[in-house]
Amino acid sequence: MASHLIEKYFRTETLPHIWCPGCGNGTVTRAIVKAIDNIGLDQNDVCIVSGIGCSSRASGYLDFNTVHTTHGRALAFATGIKLANPKLNVIVITGDGDCAAIGGNHLIHAARRNIDITTIVFNNNIYGMTGGQYSPTTPTGDIGTTAPFGNIDPNFDLCDLAIAAGATYVSRASLYNPNMIIKQVEEGIKNKGFSFIETITTCPTYYGRKNKKGDGVDMIKYLKERTINKTAYDKLPEEKRAGKIVVGEIYRGERPEFTKQYEKIIESFKGEI
Ligand code: SF4
Ligand code: MG
Repeated sequence: MASHLIEKYFRTETLPHIWCPGCGNGTVTRAIVKAIDNIGLDQNDVCIVSGIGCSSRASGYLDFNTVHTTHGRALAFATGIKLANPKLNVIVITGDGDCAAIGGNHLIHAARRNIDITTIVFNNNIYGMTGGQYSPTTPTGDIGTTAPFGNIDPNFDLCDLAIAAGATYVSRASLYNPNMIIKQVEEGIKNKGFSFIETITTCPTYYGRKNKKGDGVDMIKYLKERTINKTAYDKLPEEKRAGKIVVGEIYRGERPEFTKQYEKIIESFKGEI
């Protein structure tokens, strides 16, 4: 990362970070910082909220208003922060387990409300921090500490979930193309509603090792083979679609935003209470 970005946006006294060699968390964190820098947001106007997990450690390294909360509850905290100060650009950093298992309930309701929060999921297909247990996004048949003979659960499509729940900007990118992550975070921040960006990232220490996918570089090659743009995917015959990671803007919609509606109610009662 360019040194001026590190000096400006990181609490350098908290570095070095704890992430393993080959982990994708640094690349996604860099993309978030770069997107904020590209848009030109003031650091004081940004609040980064995270839950618990390897990716959620990012809030401790970044020099914005930051809140490192409890497991699965980042979106609940973020909702309160946004309601208390709607001018803040609230960004949630979360993992697949944090967001879709423990925090799954908060995810669907934040999307349903279309509250102006940008959520970035670091999806490494496993619980990294707690030792490699399978998560809601571990593909069926893959190995985790708690699924030594293969995961029998069907895995969630997080973008489908976010769309069904009501998010108004939904996209996916993989670590194979970090510039796409930057662009999508920019779009997510600009969308005045609930934005959901799924980044497919790497955990060589647990998901990679348990599923014989090699080190960080091997995992990027693995992502390269599977990553496909949405337009190209739509043209693929059905039999060639299995196992593909479809990236790009998946959905964009328009619905009233939650804090704007809430402000209107407060305005309508001014002077009467
Ligand atoms: Fe990254 Fe996995 Fe290591 Fe956590 S355990 S820091 S997700 S490589
Ligand atoms: Mg995870």
